[in-house]
Amino acid sequence: MKEIVLLKVGEIVLKGLNRREFEDRLIKNIKKVIRHLGSFEVKASQSAITVIPNDEAVDFDELCEHLARIFGVVTYSRAAICDEKTIECVLETAPAYLAEELESVKTFKVEAKRADKRFPLKSPEICREVGGKILSQFHHLKVDVHNPELTVTVEIRDFGAYIHGKALRGAGGIPVGTGGNAVILISGGLDSPVAAYMMAKRGIRLTAVHFASPPYTSERAEQKVVKLLKKVALYSGDMNMYTVPFTEIQETIRDKCPEELFTIIMRRLMMKISERIAREKNCQALITGESLGQVASQTIGAIMCTDAAANLPVFRPLIGMDKQEIIDISYKIDTYETSIEPYEDCCTVFTPKHPRTKPVLERVEKAEELGEFDEMIERALQNLKVTYINTK
Ligand code: ATP
Ligand code: MG
Repeated sequence: MKEIVLLKVGEIVLKGLNRREFEDRLIKNIKKVIRHLGSFEVKASQSAITVIPNDEAVDFDELCEHLARIFGVVTYSRAAICDEKTIECVLETAPAYLAEELESVKTFKVEAKRADKRFPLKSPEICREVGGKILSQFHHLKVDVHNPELTVTVEIRDFGAYIHGKALRGAGGIPVGTGGNAVILISGGLDSPVAAYMMAKRGIRLTAVHFASPPYTSERAEQKVVKLLKKVALYSGDMNMYTVPFTEIQETIRDKCPEELFTIIMRRLMMKISERIAREKNCQALITGESLGQVASQTIGAIMCTDAAANLPVFRPLIGMDKQEIIDISYKIDTYETSIEPYEDCCTVFTPKHPRTKPVLERVEKAEELGEFDEMIERALQNLKVTYINTK
């Protein structure tokens, strides 16, 4: 029996002029992600996308595992495609394809979706016929329309008639590439990889920027960031990571600026440099993993001072989340174990004993002038290292 995977896409975004762009991008993203698994035909029909393997030997579990990470997909189901789009063929295929599931439950119902209005039977008639056929073959079964253990779905669509059992929840969100480009400021911590994932989910294509301060931070700390980004890339797709040499700037902050403002000035300089990279790489926003009140540099006053350093919107998808909620997502996207590996981040070198939790912007700006950072910023930008991040 020939099988396919049937994907349902977000209904809201599909309305209006966005529809074509949304679908085209989603199809491109799907093709790219499953390319190495074999040869497939991927096509859209009426708010669904079908993934049809061209050869028999495809591993459906592996295929579904990949499809489950694609943003823009609300649900996905492995389905049988009927040889012909006729009720006779549907009646034959449904009980045969779902025999194992039907054996293992006591109650079921049939749902029919008749997207192809030329099909002679209406949905209630399809349900009645298929239900009757299943009951005649599986004598232990009862129909329960309210709370069935198994829902047998029959979908009559443009390109064929499909049968499937349970539809699984997809990654949700909107397809990467339909929401613009943004720079994620990525550390080796727990928060920024989760922030990256969350914004990719809203359709954003990512460019990563990481600040490194050797010898205070190690090569292994940078490798940890690469490892985290590879996990994020399973959802967001490939990206470039720019490593900014930050030692000179951090040492200057330490030598020239008031200690209680070290962190806030460092954060502002990260923003300024990231904005320059963002503009250069055609990105329209910055993303950070900040969460209100989590640490001294993430109070409302500190965030006001950090924000003032950048002239691009700063997206902070974790701003209202508790640490545990962030950790839950890090487990889900499998970044947790890597994030807690103990390597120094540049944020944790030269940390003040008593950081200002209510910094005043004018004072911070004055203190920052003491460092005369302009040339150092240019030097850092001239010495960026680029690493291509893919999922391999
Ligand atoms: P994370 O878990 O992401 O490290 P955090 O709770 O440790 O966050 P901070 O260290 O104050 O918080 O950093 C706040 C945000 O600043 C991070 O979420 C990240 O977006 C950015 N950031 C911190 N360190 C770096 C770095 N070395 N390179 C790039 N961005 C960084
Ligand atoms: Mg950190």
